Parts: sequence; structure tokens; C-alpha cells
Amino acid sequence: MTAPTPVDVRADFPGLANNWHYLDTAATAQKPQAVIDAIARGYGEDYATVHRGVYSRSADMTLAYEAARKRVADFIGAASDSEIVFTRGATEAINLVANSWGNGALGAGDRIMLSALEHHSNIVPWQMLAERVGAQIDVAPLTDDGKIDLDAMAVMLTDQHKLVALAHVSNVLGSLLDVKRAAELAHGVGAKLLLDGCQAVPRMAVDVQALDCDFYVFSAHKLYGPTGIGALWARADILEAMPPWEGGGSMIDKVSFERTTYAPPPQRFEAGTPHIVGALGLHAAIDYVSAIGLDAIHAQEAALVTWAREALSQFNSVRLFGPEDSAGIVSFAIEGVHPHDIGTILDEEGVAIRAGHHCAQPLMAALGVDATARASFGVYSNSDDVAALVQGIERVTRIFG
Ligand code: PMP
Repeated sequence: MTAPTPVDVRADFPGLANNWHYLDTAATAQKPQAVIDAIARGYGEDYATVHRGVYSRSADMTLAYEAARKRVADFIGAASDSEIVFTRGATEAINLVANSWGNGALGAGDRIMLSALEHHSNIVPWQMLAERVGAQIDVAPLTDDGKIDLDAMAVMLTDQHKLVALAHVSNVLGSLLDVKRAAELAHGVGAKLLLDGCQAVPRMAVDVQALDCDFYVFSAHKLYGPTGIGALWARADILEAMPPWEGGGSMIDKVSFERTTYAPPPQRFEAGTPHIVGALGLHAAIDYVSAIGLDAIHAQEAALVTWAREALSQFNSVRLFGPEDSAGIVSFAIEGVHPHDIGTILDEEGVAIRAGHHCAQPLMAALGVDATARASFGVYSNSDDVAALVQGIERVTRIFG
């Protein structure tokens, strides 16, 4: 298989040495040297705490930390950097919304709309909230090709729904949500729309204002940045009305034993010493992908998906899941072969895929399988990776007859 690879950045990624075919970017992305260097500088010659020090190194670090917040705000089209809360990742961001906004906004008899393809981190925090306040959860089904069925959701939505929480892109199927329509439907019944942007942010340009959502969350480590940091975006008026969910240093205005008052957002939601260097790494990651261009990354991953799906569909025993126009992610199964065996054999060929339920057990149930094999692409993926995947699958089918 020969194909042009307009984005050729493999040399930027030390984790991809020795021609390793890394097809597990949807789990976590490899890091470019620019991010590794930013982290090394952050913990090295630039290291100091933020928001407290009177000495110049700390003041500089505070500026760098806040510059990272501004970079995130610009990257996703936020109206202001004070709308960006740094979190440990998407999981913590969703838990923050569930605990802070959710505890106040939902009560007994209210409803939450999710979909059948959600990651556990966009299910379990809402179940915990629903149990706390006596709310109910509804689940929008999927179309035959694995997209969230918004026609069905439209029929299910009522004015009891206070929240619609959906994946912008599915981590298993790569299905892209029609966000405009989802926002119209959610807002039409007076519900807020939360988007889980984990798999979208690394693959396409995102503008939260144009999308017309109310909350947006993502993790830096899927965007070529460090683990342990991510972001919550929420519209300023929503964030300002939200109470803190964790107490501690940095999130206060004044503390006394009689009464404590809180800082405005985003500090109100960042108790304790933050992941300072993580923010610097995220800044470097955003600079890195922006220099390449999200449109170029999206186009290349889309082309790789098309090649991979075409090549895999030549095998009679391969079943492909998800839509043709999946964003960078191909899930499949081979009749009579456990996905873990596929993964193990591919590993012997230097091809790393993910096998399992991908933290989406309800989706596995909807697909009627226990697990799938998943190949997911990133900015460094190329046609050699697809060729190696296909060669590996050939071997799997030979071994299993
Ligand atoms: N949502 C989606 C769609 C994901 O792919 C993931 C990570 N697999 C998460 C949420 C959770 O992200 P994290 O574990 O970084 O908090």
C-alpha cells in the first residue's frame, strides 16, 4: 500500500523509535519532543510554585501557568480564559460538573440524557448524581452505523431533562456527533449540553461558542500533552453560579472559622497546588498541533480510516463497527477470535492496538459483543501503520484458520 502522508512528523516522537506501529492513540497519544522539552524545563530551570511566591521565579511561573490557560481558551474558542478550569482530566471535569452544577441544578424527578456509546466517565458520575438527587437517566440509542440517533433522542427528550451529556467523538467507533442538532434539541427542552471532547480535540478544530454547548471537557494526554491535566470549559454565567466542590488553598477569598468566602472562577474550582508543569506541557502540545493544523490532522486521519476500513473489509471474517466517516478510530472483530488474541498477535508484529471494552461496556452490550479490537490513529500515523495492521490481521486469520 502506498499513500501520501502530507503530515510526516514521526521524527518528533521519541516514543515511536524502531518503527513501532502505535495504533492506540485514542487511549493516550505519544508525546512530541517539544512537549517533553517543555516539561523538562518546567521541572528544571523554570520550576517554582504559582500564585503565592513573591520572588520573581514564582511570578514568572504564575504568568506561564496563566498563559497556558489562555492558550486553552483560544484553542477551543472560549470567550475568556476565566472560563477554563484546569482539572486532572476529562474524568475529573465531568465529576466536577456533576458535583457542583449537578447537585444544585437537578432534583427528584429530573432526567439526564446520555447515549449508548458513552465512555464510563460520562456515565458513572451521572449515575452517582442521579442516586444522590433522585433523578433518572435516559439513554439515546444508536443508528445502525453507530452514531447517536438524534431523531430517537428528539422523541425521548422532555422538559424534565436538565442535562444532555454526549461524546463529541466516540472513543470506540469514531462517530462524530452532529453537535448543532444536539444543542438545538437540548436547549429546546431547557436542558444544558455537556460535550465529552476527549476524542474530538486531538482530531478537529473545536469552537465551543460555535458548537453552542454549555460544558466541554477534555484530557491533555490524548492531545499529545501530559497525563494528569485536562480542562473544563463552561460558559461564564454558568461557572459563576456554580459552588466549589473541593475546598482548600487557592480557591478562597477569605478564610476564618466563622465564615469562608470563595474566589471567583476558575480559581474557585482549583483547590490546592495545581499541576503547574502539566499546564505548561498542555500549552506546548496545543502549540504543536496548531502549527501542523487540526484540519490537516483530521484529513490525514480520515484518509487512514478509509484505507484501513477498505483493507480490513477484504477479510470475510472481519466485522467492522462504526460509521464509514469515523474520526480516526476503527473498531473491528474477527469471527471466532478473541480481540485479546488479535492484540497479542499484532504485538508480535510490532503493531499496538487496544482490545477490550474500551471503558464503554454499555456500548459493547449494544453491539452484542464483549470486546472489540480497536486501531486508532494520531498525527504521526501513516500508511505503513495501516499496511502493518493489515499484514498482522492476515497472520491472525491464517493462525485461526
Ligand atoms: N471520554 C472519552 C471519549 C475518552 O476516550 C476518555 C479516555 N479514554 C475519557 C472520557 C476519560 O478520559 P481520562 O481518563 O483522561 O479522564
